[in-house]
Amino acid sequence: MKAVVADAQDSYSVVDVDLAPPKTGEVLVRMAATGVCHSDLSIINGTIPSPFPTVLGHEGAGVVEEVGEGVTNVSPGDHVILSFIPHCGECFHCVRDEPYLCIVAKQDGNLLDGTTRVSRNGEPVFVMSFLGNMAEYAVAPSISVVPMAKDVPFQAAALIGCGVTTGVGAAVKTAAVRPGSTVAVWGCGGVGLSVVQGARIAGASRIVAVDLSAEKMEMARRFGATDSVTPGGDAVREIFEMTGRIGIDYAFEVIGNPRTIEQCIKVVRRGGTAVLVGVGGAKERFSVSSLVLPLTGKSVIGCMYGSVNTKVDFPLYLDLYRRGRLDLDGMITRTYTLDEAPRAFEDLEKGVNARGVIVHG
Ligand SMILES: [Zn+2]
Ligand SMILES: [Zn+2]
Repeated sequence: MKAVVADAQDSYSVVDVDLAPPKTGEVLVRMAATGVCHSDLSIINGTIPSPFPTVLGHEGAGVVEEVGEGVTNVSPGDHVILSFIPHCGECFHCVRDEPYLCIVAKQDGNLLDGTTRVSRNGEPVFVMSFLGNMAEYAVAPSISVVPMAKDVPFQAAALIGCGVTTGVGAAVKTAAVRPGSTVAVWGCGGVGLSVVQGARIAGASRIVAVDLSAEKMEMARRFGATDSVTPGGDAVREIFEMTGRIGIDYAFEVIGNPRTIEQCIKVVRRGGTAVLVGVGGAKERFSVSSLVLPLTGKSVIGCMYGSVNTKVDFPLYLDLYRRGRLDLDGMITRTYTLDEAPRAFEDLEKGVNARGVIVHG
């Protein structure tokens, strides 16, 4: 089968690989749609450490073709959304209702049993996030797939697997934005636009889009933003002016840049919350005065995978889509074939898409 394989830092290509059948507790999924996410790019450029060679891809939807022994949650023919975190249901975090932190196995490029089903010329090839679904097929742990209703298009469903769930969940679950509150979103790419949508769904009265690009802030208005700032201007000052010097209830940082993280903490009102969604480099540091948080009652919280419970929230987000409250179709700016993956990554780096999706023939 064809797959997008990263061979080393800054080197990847579309190549032929071999795929072994699913073992116990695993499923074979024929991919229908694969989202192109910033984290794939972060594996390529080394921001997220990974073993090489590895099949990219961790956001997608497809059809179960075959199940290994002991699989009970899905059957061949089922449509599924892939989750980039497995949900074992039994580890420390899963039993505490924090399945987005599931620690059933180490993310070392293998499946749960410590081996990979993908190989090339007899040599093992790792997979990203137990999935590696930027490929025609993926063998994944059954606890990494969630069955979905068959009336939802695969392209829309694919986005639920990572970007949309992270963004919407950051607003409705991680921060639990309250109706009538004020929100600012730093960074209006695919995840940032999903935060905007989540804040709208949660009933925020004011949603300020912050980005260097006027075009992206304009796009954010289509998803529910009520205000934007001057591109390249002093966003913190402008938001203080908008809120009568009070500051904003919730600021979401969806870039992973230390300077914008500091701006988010600054712009949050006394008692407000800064939510860190964007993933920065391991060596980068942001700084906040030791005096500020205790004296202002501000909170700074991290958002992992939108605090998702995939079994509950994937169907919920699909339902919001079906009812027209969550716009997934509008998020898909462009589709690509698997062979066009390099073009998809170029567009991702240029930031021209809300989301690019690879559609498998
Ligand atoms: Zn992702
Ligand atoms: Zn677990």
